[in-house]
Amino acid sequence: MNLAQQWVDARPKVAGLHLDSGACSRQSLAVIDAVAAHARHEAEVGGYVAAEAAAPVLEAGRGAIAALTGLAASDVVYTSGSNHSLDLLLGSWQGERTLACVPGEFGPNLAVMAANGFQVRALPVDGNGRVVVDEAARMLATDPPALVHFTALASHRGVAQPLAAMVAVCREAGVPIVVDAAQAFGHLDCNVGADAIYSSSRKWLAGPRGVGFLAVRPELVARLQRRLPPAVWDVPVTVLQSFEHGEHNAATRIGYSVALGEHLAAGPELVRDTLAEVGRAAREVLAGIPGWRVVEPVDEPTAITTLEPTDGADPTAVRAWLIAERRIVTTACELARAPFEMTKPVLRISPHVDTTDEDLEQFAGVLRDAS
Ligand SMILES: *Cc1c(COP(=O)(O)O)cnc(C)c1O
Repeated sequence: MNLAQQWVDARPKVAGLHLDSGACSRQSLAVIDAVAAHARHEAEVGGYVAAEAAAPVLEAGRGAIAALTGLAASDVVYTSGSNHSLDLLLGSWQGERTLACVPGEFGPNLAVMAANGFQVRALPVDGNGRVVVDEAARMLATDPPALVHFTALASHRGVAQPLAAMVAVCREAGVPIVVDAAQAFGHLDCNVGADAIYSSSRKWLAGPRGVGFLAVRPELVARLQRRLPPAVWDVPVTVLQSFEHGEHNAATRIGYSVALGEHLAAGPELVRDTLAEVGRAAREVLAGIPGWRVVEPVDEPTAITTLEPTDGADPTAVRAWLIAERRIVTTACELARAPFEMTKPVLRISPHVDTTDEDLEQFAGVLRDAS
């Protein structure tokens, strides 16, 4: 059976067209059932007893994350999502608080960096916002920041960054690289052995909302200092343990582990190739719709396509209209999403592997009629 059919069969029937996996993918019935079953188990035996019983499932999830990132299962902690992961990491950084990132850095990430007192400088990029690797190498050699923060795939633009090359350049320069894989995980190859990497469950992995992970290599953990409880307290809590300490919905971590297992079973490479094909098909179908410009190069290997209005259309209003009148779910990206790169808001579609050419043509037709 092909991947698209497998994906459809595993899920509740969709109401309309779901072109919004970059915001939140559709969970499978198995994931939904695992979350519900854990809540039921909590009611039967007690929340903390149920959590202990589920430990092997969480360990399997860590193992899947390890396989997909090139780090070890013991380097992985569950968090409540990508921004939480970044805040945990930066909040425990001991050294000088400087970092370099792409000019198209995600707005909420910039807020987390600022809140943690980090001075931010820009990595050199080309006209698409893609890092120019050899220029970045020169910058890291002459004036290195304490960290590179690298968003491997942005939320506002489906341009794949040269992740493996950047990891190599940072290693060469001796600068730790922290990878935001919120959009890249389960979408681009993230098995690159970054120093730290994090993502969210609900996006391309199609797990539950409110969960994510952070993985940090031991060499980088050694450069962090526990915040809670305070490092000077003589208690046997490691930095990574402290990251996982807060209250959380255990059922979502179990659901995420199931989604990770489904992803490995589907074949990460097949998923990536299929997403790249869907993205190319979308850009071909959407090229030339009056009033809109496709931002990405047609063969960008991602399933994120953004449309910039050329005739004054308002993506927020168009998104709302598409949901209310056509049951088509997309995202409107305002400038705050990438304040140092975006000059116009965009309408984003982020279809998953089940999206057909007919779906894309239907969407293009609706957008053409609406414009
Ligand atoms: C969604 C997103 C985030 C934040 O993820 P949360 O789980 O909402 O914290 C960070 N970076 C990028 C590129 C994103 O797309």
